[in-house]
Amino acid sequence: MKAIVFDEPGGPENLSVRIVDDPVCKENQVIIDIKFAALNHLDLWVRKSPTYAASTPHVGGSDGSGTISEIGTKVKNLNLGDRVLINPGFSCGNCRYCYMGEQSSCDSFKIMGAGPWGTEAEKIAVDAKNVLKIPDNITFEVAAAAPLTFITVYRMLATKGNVQPGETVLVTGGGGGIGTVAIQMAKAMKAKVIVLTSTDKIEAVHQLGADVVINYLETPDWENEVINEGGADVIIESVGEKTWGKSIKVLNKRGRLVTIGATTGALGETEIRELYRKQASIHGSFMGSNEDFLKSMNFLFDGSVKPVIDSVFKLSDARLAHERLETGKHIGKILLQV
Ligand SMILES: [Zn+2]
Repeated sequence: MKAIVFDEPGGPENLSVRIVDDPVCKENQVIIDIKFAALNHLDLWVRKSPTYAASTPHVGGSDGSGTISEIGTKVKNLNLGDRVLINPGFSCGNCRYCYMGEQSSCDSFKIMGAGPWGTEAEKIAVDAKNVLKIPDNITFEVAAAAPLTFITVYRMLATKGNVQPGETVLVTGGGGGIGTVAIQMAKAMKAKVIVLTSTDKIEAVHQLGADVVINYLETPDWENEVINEGGADVIIESVGEKTWGKSIKVLNKRGRLVTIGATTGALGETEIRELYRKQASIHGSFMGSNEDFLKSMNFLFDGSVKPVIDSVFKLSDARLAHERLETGKHIGKILLQV
């Protein structure tokens, strides 16, 4: 099969289109002929850092959709030709965290494309328990664009943030993959949504349904605007050092700050008194459980959250797709058509 392979960690120039062996279908797996793969920032880290990819040569890609072309002997409830998407979180099923339903804390948790080979290829072998059928009204493009960000955002908003109708959600990184989903999903949960973003993304963020959009480049004291809007009950914090201290300041009483990343640095300053006076809490969040996956896919299947698709590249142009993701100018997902 054709795949996008790199032999050494490094820049997008290390990616090459290559013919590799077809994956072998184990008894509990299916082979999926991939129609679309979607990129995530994780793909950049995997490509750049030797600590992510378990071994080289490596094929990245944590999101994908396609049709089943081969079925393992022990697989039930899936058929040849089924249109499917993939839950990219692989857990052991046997450790204490798996028993608790906390798969993304599994002792041997892995994300497809980081460790195991991913979806930037014509075929992939996946455990049947990680495969979900796509309803007829959902296109392969949209199905590929959704899983990793939808699971991650659902866990932040619902499982960790416990967002209630009428509460206010602040999204600190409004234009990225997480942000564009978080805005829509928080609106679907009947929350008021305030978004921090940069100049060139303001219009797009408004169109996604944000109630208040603040340009943090023009408004360095953005915390005052958030406080004037009534503060935030839940914060989807992905920026890190640059916004951390102010995020804690704008948290309401009983507020929940949920952190998923630290793109501007990992050493934020915490005013401890703000936390106990307001009885606020800080939650770390990482990907999601199988339950988070299934519940997040409901938002895709019922149409209440629509993945924003920035651009579609041919599989053989994966290098260009990686370069676009690296610019940070994209709004929503970058896809590869296989
Ligand atoms: Zn486990």
